[in-house]
Amino acid sequence: MQKIQNLINGELVAPQSGEYLENFNPATGEVYSFIPDSDERDVANAVKAAKDAFPLWSNMQKEKRSAILIRLSELIQKNLDKFALAESIDNGKPVWLAKSVDIPRAVSNLHFYATASLHTHTETHAMEATALNYTLNTPVGVAGCISPWNLPLYLFTWKIAPALAAGCTVVAKPSEITPMTAYLLSELCEEAGVPKGVLNIVHGLGTKTGMAIVSHPDVAAISFTGGTKTGEVIARTAAPMFKKLSLELGGKNPNIIFGDADFEKAVHTSVRSSFSNQGEICLCGSRIFIERSIYEKFKTAFVDEVKKLKVGDPLNDDSWIGAIVSKQHKEKILSYIKLAREEGGTILCGGEEINPGGKNAKGYFISPTVIEGLSFDCRTNQEEIFGPVVSIMPFDTEEEVLSYANSTQYGLAATLWTQNLSRAHRMSAKIQCGIIWVNCWLLRDLRTPFGGMKGSGVGREGGFEALKFFMEEKNVCIKF
Ligand code: NAD
Repeated sequence: MQKIQNLINGELVAPQSGEYLENFNPATGEVYSFIPDSDERDVANAVKAAKDAFPLWSNMQKEKRSAILIRLSELIQKNLDKFALAESIDNGKPVWLAKSVDIPRAVSNLHFYATASLHTHTETHAMEATALNYTLNTPVGVAGCISPWNLPLYLFTWKIAPALAAGCTVVAKPSEITPMTAYLLSELCEEAGVPKGVLNIVHGLGTKTGMAIVSHPDVAAISFTGGTKTGEVIARTAAPMFKKLSLELGGKNPNIIFGDADFEKAVHTSVRSSFSNQGEICLCGSRIFIERSIYEKFKTAFVDEVKKLKVGDPLNDDSWIGAIVSKQHKEKILSYIKLAREEGGTILCGGEEINPGGKNAKGYFISPTVIEGLSFDCRTNQEEIFGPVVSIMPFDTEEEVLSYANSTQYGLAATLWTQNLSRAHRMSAKIQCGIIWVNCWLLRDLRTPFGGMKGSGVGREGGFEALKFFMEEKNVCIKF
């Protein structure tokens, strides 16, 4: 069976311990490959390689750095089918989704930052005839990038691309639950011309490998995407060491549907925003608030469309929903459906595990679930479930729905459906979320700031923000 290797100093190597972890195919429930169980020795080797490579990479002409990253993006594009299949098998997402969203976005991430880095500028502050201040941006050094399992290569490249384009060298760790596409990327680095030690990929557990990256004194910045609880642990470790920290964390996103919304579009897009990628996208709406005047009509149309979503083998093109990423995560989602029932919710559709049979008989599948009758402040409506489960609730006024929307510890994304422009502006200003989509969902421009408020994170990714994160700003003051 295939054994994934670490990429350290340009070489694919086994972990120091010689130990491996099992990697499951969530659609079959079977182990299909092995992941290095790396520890602090592997991380120390990777950090040393990154530190040694830093002078070469950070001093390289940015046009040359850019060309290498573009080559890497082109090689992923060339291997689109291979990457998409690997992502689908590793994560459980439909292969058509990996092919149309995840892998193309990984290509765009690398291309975007490779070219963005050519168009940066710095400011000057003139003090009339006395002096001139100018800003220098220099890469911070070795950057630690840690990513989750839901959009594996998409989010892995969303971090390493700006770090590398900014001139940092990188020690990165993909999720131990979905390591495969990061491994495939490591196999392309040499061909792309990435100098040895510039990008190091160490596989393993969060608490062991991840923590070793976060606590290593020579890692100057940590860019992390994952759960809010993990973010807390990382902040507690990195903050006393004064590392730069970017944290993209969990969400419990509200979808707000007003009576004047374009009904068909609001229903159709809300189905997508609830259940795409099995509901395992940090930007999925999980609390749908519907103005009372259209509540019953919306509910009927929404549930009808959800019932038509086909759950099944991720490798079949007609499966709209694939497998839940792991057995443990499946159990977590089912425990929340049980909780919703205990809290007085009515399951309008779904609510159970599915067995598609055949080779998928032991896979992890849950039917898309819509719940009504819960209060906005119960646990089901306050805690992140991160699966194909949404709760629908009626509201009467703007003030009321605003208080519901802002009632959780999270503040990542919100979706608003209304034809009233003034209301759209009013609500957008008051909703406590880093991203507001009006009459759309997941429409992304990579130049825009991306991130959350409150328990959803600290800092912003996207655009020049991410390049800046991986740099130190220095003011130079010259007296005339
Ligand atoms: P997770 O926090 O369990 O793990 C994320 C990564 O951190 C993994 O690589 C893991 O190995 C590592 N890790 C775990 N413990 C660590 C530790 N103590 N020190 C260092 N690294 C550690 O999250 P997950 O279950 O993989 O992903 C799901 C979560 O990610 C959800 O909460 C989701 O909302 C969130 N997410 C957020 C965004 C965003 O942009 N805000 C995007 C995607 C996912």
